[in-house]
Amino acid sequence: MRDEGVERWPVKVDRIAKRRGIKIQYSPLDEELSGMVFYKDNVAVIGVNSKHHVRRQRFTIAHELGHLQLHDDVLRKGMHVDKVITMLNRDSKSAAGTVNIEIEANQFAAEFLMPRKFVMQYMDENDLDYGTVADEQAIEDMANAFNVSSTAMTYRVAKIL
Ligand SMILES: [Zn+2]
Repeated sequence: MRDEGVERWPVKVDRIAKRRGIKIQYSPLDEELSGMVFYKDNVAVIGVNSKHHVRRQRFTIAHELGHLQLHDDVLRKGMHVDKVITMLNRDSKSAAGTVNIEIEANQFAAEFLMPRKFVMQYMDENDLDYGTVADEQAIEDMANAFNVSSTAMTYRVAKIL
């Protein structure tokens, strides 16, 4: 499902969402709000902060797609709102000791925007090797190609390699 209709980077996250019947609404929100996801009349709606950088918007959409795929039961109970802080807080665990749904959604988003096979293919085509994660210019070029932030790409490459 993750790679449906996707042959090459950058992954067209908004088009894939729309093809799945999900509505995307771009609107200016408070700086601290990244986005939200909810059901309206049984249609999934993703709200995105239009004031944020496009790469952040893409990550937000992918993060909310993760919630839709993984946490539908939670979303059926009410709107899920993401603040910048909850999305960056990669290591937090809930009080019950279960894996935080934000970590799962971030993981989903990283895999969605930077699928392993695309990352490997890009590295093959550009003759990159294991030193890439420490090469700022290479990471930046890769981030540009995938239309994600350099930070997101650094994490992803480190994880894959
Ligand atoms: Zn979230």
